Amino acid sequence: MPKAQQTVLEINLKALSQNLKHLQSKLQPNTKFMAVVKAFAYGNDPCEIAHFLENLNVDYFAVAYTNEGVALRESGITKPILVLHPQTVNFKELIEHCLEPALYNNKILDEFLEVASAEKLNHYPVHIKFNTGLNRLGFSENDVNSIASKLKNTEAVKVESIFSHLAASEDLNEKAFTQNQIERFNNISNRFTEAIGYQPILHMCNTSGILNYPEAHFDMVRSGIGLYGFGNSEKENQFLKPIGTLKTVISQIHQIEKGESVGYNRGFISNKLTKTATLPIGHADGIGRQYGKGKGYVTINNQKAYIVGNVCMDMIMVDVSNIDCQEGDEVVVFNGETTAENLADTANTISYELITSISQRIKRVFIS
Ligand SMILES: *Cc1c(COP(=O)(O)O)cnc(C)c1O
Repeated sequence: MPKAQQTVLEINLKALSQNLKHLQSKLQPNTKFMAVVKAFAYGNDPCEIAHFLENLNVDYFAVAYTNEGVALRESGITKPILVLHPQTVNFKELIEHCLEPALYNNKILDEFLEVASAEKLNHYPVHIKFNTGLNRLGFSENDVNSIASKLKNTEAVKVESIFSHLAASEDLNEKAFTQNQIERFNNISNRFTEAIGYQPILHMCNTSGILNYPEAHFDMVRSGIGLYGFGNSEKENQFLKPIGTLKTVISQIHQIEKGESVGYNRGFISNKLTKTATLPIGHADGIGRQYGKGKGYVTINNQKAYIVGNVCMDMIMVDVSNIDCQEGDEVVVFNGETTAENLADTANTISYELITSISQRIKRVFIS
């Protein structure tokens, strides 16, 4: 790769396929794989990522909202796409693009059934979501019989899958809680399958569920963060490779005399002669203000350079007092060694938040 001359997010497709292979090596041979490409494929690029994965061994895609699924269809994705959190106002568009809704309460189920019969749909695939303890979206186990009888009374839809979502699959201190979720899902899926009289696909695990709870893989697993290279633990991170490298460049270097300040609101006041580098990346690019004032850092010529003062909208200033560097030098914000997870840690957040925040104005470059 040539050195970065502007801020770029390099996306390593080879790492993506290796991560997929690693995750699939944890599965039984016939367990299906759903690739979660919501939120711009976790900040990468949904269409490029989905096209790359569509040619590999992926069975399903998942997005959060209808418009994300529409963008995938318009780019030519043909494999089935689950919309995890559709809104009733989008049902027509969802149907026009052959997207498959997750139905999680009676309001959305009833409205979808109404649209489905008005549109004279026949066996349109839908996915029923049950709440087993996350308390976010999903029918309760008490709803099993009433929704099964609604679904039995119509030819308009068929239940392609039933699923639930784990609340703490990465936290082994919560093993008992997770095992209880799995048991509840087993119970619900048995009762529901019997009540509708046919066998839908069952799925429950996200990335950490795949890695920590093989007994809960059921017929399919849903992975997002693992594909992008994070396993939510030091042990699992060894086997995965972050696919994104965020790079930028030094725009200007300043010598700051003792007593001078740097940046808005004089967020840094120097107590000695200090050298700073100004970089073209700021909070509008996804490096939030919480990384400022000495918390977050970048890497320049293999050395850490901490953010000085407040993060600006389009720039940060970093301390390069002890780094041999020049205007025009490349800067690594995160890569496979100093990862997005390491940087996220400095501001008490998680890799998911940092990578999904990388602004769309940053150029994406794909390497294979
Ligand atoms: C986002 C999401 C996933 C993917 O989770 P990862 O931890 O990124 O693998 C799976 N299932 C549901 C319901 C989700 O919302």
